[in-house]
Amino acid sequence: MRPLTDPQIRASFVNCSRRDAAQATLPADLAGRDWDRLDYLGWTDARNPRRAYVVTWLDDRPTGIVLRASDGATKRNAVCVWCEDVIATNEVALFVAKRAGAAGRNGDTVGTLICADFACSANARRRPTIVEAGDDAAAVVARRVAGLQDRHARFVASVARG
Ligand SMILES: [Zn+2]
Repeated sequence: MRPLTDPQIRASFVNCSRRDAAQATLPADLAGRDWDRLDYLGWTDARNPRRAYVVTWLDDRPTGIVLRASDGATKRNAVCVWCEDVIATNEVALFVAKRAGAAGRNGDTVGTLICADFACSANARRRPTIVEAGDDAAAVVARRVAGLQDRHARFVASVARG
């Protein structure tokens, strides 16, 4: 993905107040990110472990959503809806996002079961097993990455639409 700056991220949030956006704790290591190997930027708020953020590019615009981690919904044996990685051993958690605009103000939310550490991009780029890969490992990775890009973008777009 194209790199993001702090101001771009703060201005990107579609489903929270300006005040919440201003108070969000941004990742400390933005400059050190390997953006070429990321499909979205996701992180947990360092000051609030139940709050998380996902920012991605939609139609050439940074689009960010605030997510709330659902109570007790972390599962070790669940499969992430975005990267669909069946081998990853990281935890998968239910995250809920308030819809943008009037829908969200009326309490309308949408949920998704995704990697709790937002490592989907690394999972999608994992070297395929022989069974998965057949004779074309690069094609398997390309297909996974394309699927992740499509699924996460559709979720963010549906939150942004309100
Ligand atoms: Zn994932």
